[in-house]
Amino acid sequence: MWDLDNTIVDTNSVWANAQTKLLSSLFSYIGLETSGVKIDEELLQLRRIDYKLCQEFGTPHYDFKYLLIALFYFYRDGIKGDELIEVTRKADQDSIPEFTKILLKDFYKNLDKIPPLFDGILDVLKFCNKRSYQLLISEGSKEVKEKIIKKYELPKYFNEIRVIPKGGKENEFKGLRKRYPNLDIIVFDDLSKNIDFGNQIHAKTVWVRFCYTINGYDIFGEKPKTRPDYTVFSVKELMRVVKSFLKL
Ligand SMILES: [Mg+2]
Repeated sequence: MWDLDNTIVDTNSVWANAQTKLLSSLFSYIGLETSGVKIDEELLQLRRIDYKLCQEFGTPHYDFKYLLIALFYFYRDGIKGDELIEVTRKADQDSIPEFTKILLKDFYKNLDKIPPLFDGILDVLKFCNKRSYQLLISEGSKEVKEKIIKKYELPKYFNEIRVIPKGGKENEFKGLRKRYPNLDIIVFDDLSKNIDFGNQIHAKTVWVRFCYTINGYDIFGEKPKTRPDYTVFSVKELMRVVKSFLKL
């Protein structure tokens, strides 16, 4: 069983791109002097704020108007730390100028861009497809995910592809536990939910870390109860791992 985002496609690069553009627009909107600004460092700053908001709202799919509001308070008013999260939480639509709603709209539009495949990942999928039942589970907008699936012809590599609505993974896993009690291996990038599910059905769990993540384990707000069986940092390593236990 496979996850799509950040496991097969580099969704992180789409996010980094959208977040960088959001920062640039925001800086020019609030008239911030940007000559000495290193955008990569500001991107990290944005991600730290985003990470805190994920924890605050209990989901990575919170309403990003709060991210924009937080960035405003941070860059325009210099509010930091816990106070930043507190004022952001209490803020309403009026806390940000009308004009900036276009920034938010652009941000969402940029997030919907089709991410590139990780180099060599299709070879891994091809290898697995010959040897085991291949199931792809992706959480998010049906329209966006289906574009990705079509573009990379993913049905060629999977017996079954399921796109489920945001926040629906836990429920999905309940059904999968009954239908597929014998999944051999599950490959994913976010530890929360996936690893517990893998352990419940006694599948080998493979945590791919092709992308940059903050604080590793608890980026999605939940700590896994156990460690994955394998942690891989490249597609090459992933191929080695799947080869080691899907040999005929
Ligand atoms: Mg993912």
